[in-house]
Amino acid sequence: MRKRFIADATCPHCQQKDTLAMWRENNVDVVECVKCGHQMREADKQVRDQIRSQEQVIGIFHPE
Ligand SMILES: [Zn+2]
Repeated sequence: MRKRFIADATCPHCQQKDTLAMWRENNVDVVECVKCGHQMREADKQVRDQIRSQEQVIGIFHPE
């Protein structure tokens, strides 16, 4: 499973920066903080939109 780290994103749970990784699981975007384990799924669209707006893609990414 390829995970992308999201630069400059802040975890809403532990407030650490650059700890959020994002990947797709069953067509759902999953974002997890590797620091505290806090996980956010596509259901939380507000969080996802926030992440997306902050996202700087590292590596290969194919936009929809
Ligand atoms: Zn965290």
